[in-house]
Amino acid sequence: MADRKIGYDDTPFLPNSTWRVHDGKRPQPRVIVPGTFSTPETPGLPPSDAIVLFDGKDASKWAGGDGGAIKWKIENGYMEVTPGSGGIQTRDEFADCQLHIEWAAPSVIKGEDQGRGNSGVFLMGRYEIQVLDCYNNLTYPDGTTGAIYGQYPPLVNACRKPGEWQSYDIFFVAPKFDGDNLISPAYITVVHNGILIHHHQPALGPTGHRSVPSYSSPHSKGPLALQDHGDLVRYRNIWIRVLKGYDE
Ligand code: MG
Repeated sequence: MADRKIGYDDTPFLPNSTWRVHDGKRPQPRVIVPGTFSTPETPGLPPSDAIVLFDGKDASKWAGGDGGAIKWKIENGYMEVTPGSGGIQTRDEFADCQLHIEWAAPSVIKGEDQGRGNSGVFLMGRYEIQVLDCYNNLTYPDGTTGAIYGQYPPLVNACRKPGEWQSYDIFFVAPKFDGDNLISPAYITVVHNGILIHHHQPALGPTGHRSVPSYSSPHSKGPLALQDHGDLVRYRNIWIRVLKGYDE
């Protein structure tokens, strides 16, 4: 504790709060060590309070569809979809979180539309942020790179060229239910290569294909999942921060 008086104790109380304006007794924010940014060659370091889900070598936090070890290729600091082997998912489950993930579409351009560099990041195993190579590749807007698939196109197309590393920083608020009733939807914010592409979008429900989504069944937690859509998409530097209130 500081040996000098911090703040004020004669100021009015904030609305619906036990804290005064500038209250020096209010808990201090937790101290963490921030990470570093990635370069094309080198992944950055995660912040000190992140759970590292994939550091370029160790995929033990992930499972394949059968619950066993993943069948994706791990080499040179990344993992790569092995087409036909199925999607993968974390063994742990999450709800409100900040997720950092880097991906690269194949440098050899193959296919078009939804068939070019397709994969996906599924929050809670249900809400897909589309991974797709949309650098000079047209597809339906709510399925383009960074789309909340089938619901919201990104605000802009911030794609790098195929083969180049790209990043998603995703801020996710899980939906809240009271029994079977939805109290508040999932909210999704996404930054693609440093550019805001979704700003607190209320998801209409878990991702569907050619269907209107809805919150038909309550869910409080779920794994992070990555999609095998048949393309050689690579991932590296995956970390997650479980979001809590600052004084919880
Ligand atoms: Mg996909």
